[in-house]
Amino acid sequence: MAKLYFRYGAMNSGKSTALLQAAYNYEERGQHVLLAKPEIDTKGADRISSRLGVSRGVDFLIRPEDDLRELFAAHRARVLAAEGADVACLLIDEAQFLTPTQVDDLLRIVVLDSVPILAYGIRTDFQTQAFPGSRRLMELAHSLEELKTICRCGRKALFNARLVGGRFVFEGDQVAIDELSHEKVTYESMCAQCYLTASGGRLS
Ligand SMILES: [Zn+2]
Repeated sequence: MAKLYFRYGAMNSGKSTALLQAAYNYEERGQHVLLAKPEIDTKGADRISSRLGVSRGVDFLIRPEDDLRELFAAHRARVLAAEGADVACLLIDEAQFLTPTQVDDLLRIVVLDSVPILAYGIRTDFQTQAFPGSRRLMELAHSLEELKTICRCGRKALFNARLVGGRFVFEGDQVAIDELSHEKVTYESMCAQCYLTASGGRLS
């Protein structure tokens, strides 16, 4: 039986690396996979890039208004026509940026169309609030797996602190558009202790 897997973690927990490795494992067995990501993520455009240096183009981008089940069905039909083989797995990067409705479609694809899905994403934003797509994945996924990374202090990182021009900020839009700011927006994965110390006790 196909399952919906959500593999989540803080930033820099190796999600893209894990996704590319999973795709490779399928393909090594002669199976076909499709790679997709939401269009909102501009930093990698239409590629999935691992911090280890490996990168690969996606098969399709998902816009917020897309009917994801229909979009997937079209790409599945294209693979079937071109390769004479079905899609063994759909892999999605940056899944936190899917809409809750699109996550509903992921469960339909898995259960009604019998295609397993591996979704990778960040659990919470810089204000420790769940991204809407991640919240829905936490609710619907058959399987949840945490990908771990460590804080600067050595504890497991839970949160993603935002820095603008090197200074921590705790207010702003959920998705920071780098181009609109004079100063560079970066993130640091932090444990709860270090986050609360930096924020002066603030959580949202
Ligand atoms: Zn820490």
